[in-house]
Amino acid sequence: MTEAASVEVARRLMRESAPRSPYVHTIQTAGGAHILLADGSRLFDADVRLAARIEQAIASGTVESLLSTLGVNGAPYVDDTPLTAPPLHALSLAIAQKCNLGCTYCYAQQGQFGGEAKDMARDVAEQAVNLLVGGATPGARLNLAFLGGEPLANRALLRETTRRAHQLAAERGVTLGFSITTNGTLLTEADADFFEEYGFAVTVSIDGPRPQHNALRPFVSGKGSYERIMENVRPLLAKQRRMQVGARVTVTPRNLSLRETLDELAHAGFHSIGFSPLLRSPNGAEELVREDLERVLAAMIECGNEFERRTMRGERYPFANLLNALKEIEKGTHRPYPCGAGAGYLGVSADGDLAACHRFVGDDDGAMGTLATGIDNERRDTWLAERHVHKQEPCRSCWARYLCGGGCHHEVIARGRPACDYIRGWLHYCLGVYLRLTPVRLARNAAPPENAHGARLAAAK
Ligand code: SF4
Ligand code: SF4
Repeated sequence: MTEAASVEVARRLMRESAPRSPYVHTIQTAGGAHILLADGSRLFDADVRLAARIEQAIASGTVESLLSTLGVNGAPYVDDTPLTAPPLHALSLAIAQKCNLGCTYCYAQQGQFGGEAKDMARDVAEQAVNLLVGGATPGARLNLAFLGGEPLANRALLRETTRRAHQLAAERGVTLGFSITTNGTLLTEADADFFEEYGFAVTVSIDGPRPQHNALRPFVSGKGSYERIMENVRPLLAKQRRMQVGARVTVTPRNLSLRETLDELAHAGFHSIGFSPLLRSPNGAEELVREDLERVLAAMIECGNEFERRTMRGERYPFANLLNALKEIEKGTHRPYPCGAGAGYLGVSADGDLAACHRFVGDDDGAMGTLATGIDNERRDTWLAERHVHKQEPCRSCWARYLCGGGCHHEVIARGRPACDYIRGWLHYCLGVYLRLTPVRLARNAAPPENAHGARLAAAK
């Protein structure tokens, strides 16, 4: 298919997924019509008569009463009540607010978040571990993430903190996972051993095949960083057992060859490859606009189609965005927030300030107290009340609201919601993939479905 034809398909998906009702969304596959109930993200097959009644009800604005007649409109799965002071289950530490790369779009402004280059001090890291692990109830499952800047620029403290947190977790009877997001330029073989020992989830930022990556993520000197990263990451890829090594690709108008990127990184041995469209950068550089997002969706669908082909052949294809979306659809995820930011997840700056997440470090909009004074629960409760998807426009009338959660807070606060057509088009596509692959999977497993939606794939009366 030509690029123009792929973009036309993406535009059609965007049109088909435009919100017509806040309650339902319809999907057509070769197997017939399907209905997604926004409330509870419940998915049903619908016979021809039911599909026609739903279309009619959407047109006349009477869906709510039809759903009551059908008996699927009970107490809402998500009500207006915001979370209040949820238990902390994840912290990210900006362990080094400095970086050796000069990415053209860096949200952290060369890792310094607009301030001076600095390392986190040992006592700050200790307090952070005490807050996360020391305050957890036995049996809790927690995650400690190392971010920057470039976290390996403060390797000694990263290792010391990991060991200490691991020991404290064992003493307290909690399960603690570790993760790191790195630019890959400082990775060593000894890091590979360390991350394998502690079972890290390692995410390496790579923006595509060599030319695109080097244009977007050069060293501060201007020299390309691709060769160094791919060489450094080799021992990690070879050693990953407990550790998993993924790639994160920031998608800009300059690196839209997603399929090529995915195949190259999968071939190199990355466990998963995820794409993050860039909607907000501090200086506005490389941000995607509507026309770009049509091309991004076309490129994502190209990757998705390959995923579908490979899955049909019984092969694994490590396209993280689609794998994650299918898991969420399977679970029937219905959430009032897009992520755990400002809820069970907080970011910690090198100075010990707490923020709603790693992207709000140094940003008053997401300030949540300090390690010295504790979490500002009043601020957190206000945030959770204001950020609930029922308080967001136009989310309240969008069928995708409980799968999407209202969009990344950081991007929405800074830039609004320019990507809704893209988000809905992608979810609509993923629902179609799910509906096509589920019967194949069930036939292969020859066992009763364990998943919520498999069980629900029965016609509503
Ligand atoms: S942010 Fe998400 S939930 Fe809100 S309108 Fe856009 S797609 Fe819908
Ligand atoms: S607010 Fe955005 S950047 Fe922060 S955790 Fe949520 S999705 Fe991620």
